[in-house]
Amino acid sequence: MTRPTASIVTVGSELTEGLRLDTNTREIAFALSTSGYHVLETASVGDHTEILADVLARLSARDALVVVTGGLGPTHDDITREAASQALRRPLLRAPELVELLLPATRRHSDERAMEQVLRQAELLEGADVILPVTGTAPGQFVATPAGLLVLLPGPPAEMRPMLSRLVTDIAPGPSRASVRELGCVGLTESDAQVRATAALSAHPGVAFTVLASPGDVHILLLDDGAGERALDAAAEAVTVALGARIYSTDGSTLAEAVVRSAIERGITLGLAESCTGGLVAARLTDVPGSSATFLGGVVAYSNGAKFALLGVSTETLARHGAVSAETAEEMAAGARTALGADIAVAVTGVAGPSGGSPDKPVGLVWFGLATASGTTSFSRGIPGDRAAVRIRAASTALDTLRREVLGL
Ligand code: ATP
Ligand code: MG
Repeated sequence: MTRPTASIVTVGSELTEGLRLDTNTREIAFALSTSGYHVLETASVGDHTEILADVLARLSARDALVVVTGGLGPTHDDITREAASQALRRPLLRAPELVELLLPATRRHSDERAMEQVLRQAELLEGADVILPVTGTAPGQFVATPAGLLVLLPGPPAEMRPMLSRLVTDIAPGPSRASVRELGCVGLTESDAQVRATAALSAHPGVAFTVLASPGDVHILLLDDGAGERALDAAAEAVTVALGARIYSTDGSTLAEAVVRSAIERGITLGLAESCTGGLVAARLTDVPGSSATFLGGVVAYSNGAKFALLGVSTETLARHGAVSAETAEEMAAGARTALGADIAVAVTGVAGPSGGSPDKPVGLVWFGLATASGTTSFSRGIPGDRAAVRIRAASTALDTLRREVLGL
């Protein structure tokens, strides 16, 4: 079966000029492709009516579904309605039900021109249907095109999102919900993950896959390309076997969610001592709702004085081995475990850079300490990247250390 084609256009000079990150495209692309659409093209266009009209004319002549976000507001740079009107050669008409909806907003303005501006949002392409706002005031709309449907949604993600879910459930549901399995993987580079997954999947035709990497975290997405649910499960199993303990989740959950879930299941409490990550590990754990059932707390001990006063790292250890050392990492972990009364504590201390490196302790060297009821251990990693990447990767390694200890891996 050939899937209906779709395209996505995000509008706004703030996107094309690099002032805001376009997150809508990704969310919409995922929603459409998991609904069974084949997304052929995505584009961002600045606030230029003629250019947008050209793009919309081309895409709406080809694709069964064209989704546009942004440029639906009341101000002069909101040109999406006008461009769509030119592209489809349909006039814009003021919809009485939308005027009604927008009237409270016009009353906030004393200037008559400002009121007129607000009412621009009441303009619908001839023959279009309204998608009422769930949050915010900007309405969306959809209208028939030569190849299918053109859908205009507001730009702010919180306003776009509820309309997108209505779109894929009621307005233009795709032919089938293509299934996805998302495997979270830690401790491997993107290329390593790619190579191993390719080998594991060679015996699984009908399953496509893509690797999404961010610092410290790699996600392997398996997509049903005609194989069906059971084949997808078998493929996920094959990748899990090939990558072993590096796979921390098979349901799309984050590394921190995996740590919290497994610690709660086993009734284990967690504590942290953070130097170079400055609380990043604690932030990721406490991002997870319900983490209070396992995470007791963390100590951000950045200076040597704080490591001594708050965690009990001995001045002798600090003087002899330095803050970035196996000995300090172990004493930090042991100190946090005692101070917090946790079953397991992990410590992170390293050289995040850009300065502060030396020949025997280069930028990127990070020591991790682990304290449990059976004693303390430590290990180091040479982490590549700039300061931000070193900190994020170090935080992921700390979370993975907790995970492995909790699971006994
Ligand atoms: P408004 O009524 O707010 O003007 P709008 O539909 O005209 O709504 P825009 O003016 O294009 O939307 O965008 C408003 C804000 O929404 C932007 O400044 C930006 O922060 C956010 N936004 C717009 N498009 C995107 C996008 N593709 N991805 C992420 N955020 C976006
Ligand atoms: Mg706007």
